[in-house]
Amino acid sequence: MLRLDALTKTYKTGDKALKAVTLDVPPGQVIALIGPSGAGKSTLIRCINRLVEPTSGSVMLETTNLTTLRPAALRRERRRMGMIFQEYALVERLTVMENVLSGRLGYVGFWRALTRRFPQKDVDEAFRLLDRVGLLHMADKRADQLSGGQRQRVGICRALIQDPALLLVDEPTASLDPKTSRQIMRLICELCAERGLAAIINIHDVALAQRFVARVIGLRFGEIVYDGPPDGLTPEK
Ligand code: ADP
Ligand code: ADP
Repeated sequence: MLRLDALTKTYKTGDKALKAVTLDVPPGQVIALIGPSGAGKSTLIRCINRLVEPTSGSVMLETTNLTTLRPAALRRERRRMGMIFQEYALVERLTVMENVLSGRLGYVGFWRALTRRFPQKDVDEAFRLLDRVGLLHMADKRADQLSGGQRQRVGICRALIQDPALLLVDEPTASLDPKTSRQIMRLICELCAERGLAAIINIHDVALAQRFVARVIGLRFGEIVYDGPPDGLTPEK
């Protein structure tokens, strides 16, 4: 489904954020990426959809080498990778519904185009997703009226309405309290299972990873130092 081969990122500053990372993600598998701050987790996630340009190595999404794609083709492939952010990245002035629908528009210029030109099937799908995450009654509220947990649910719906092949999730619970964090992790993992969706979840909280995910990748100084079930982790990781 997804294969990283000797993926390397050296920033202009000389920081070697990733050192030849090789990783296979089978279809439908949810992976938690853990490791201390600065280990390269966020860089890894962002090199996959090229929000950060890798220095060398390759990223294969099914049969497509993402690292060599030109901009137009890259934009198309990015539609197949839903992204969920720590700070939600919602447009605060828009409604919940509009934020969800913006997921249909891809990465560029996404909210300017929000003038009710979505096909009914997209609107129906947005209602279905909001219902699934328990936010149907909030569809017409502005995003800035929501709690953090509610915002992240909207972020999840916005990623899923793309009908992605893969979810890239960057610290989804870092801004949330412990109880809400558990709810959000459970929701993401349930939705992946329901849809047979693969995901890479960058998560700082090891206990959360252990609770919800069967495969954990430990990253340290840009290298994979652990790959296996969560119960094999030593406490200090
Ligand atoms: P993590 O997500 O595990 O905290 P990051 O991927 O954010 O780790 O960072 C990995 C390393 O790359 C760190 O040393 C960090 O300082 C460096 N780094 C991250 N982003 C940049 C950037 N835009 N420019 C230069 N160095 C960066
Ligand atoms: P960082 O400085 O943490 O590496 P970026 O500069 O890549 O992050 O992006 C800053 C913020 O902009 C992200 O944390 C996210 O909230 C938002 N953002 C980045 N890319 C996208 C995108 N494709 N769609 C929506 N929001 C995005």
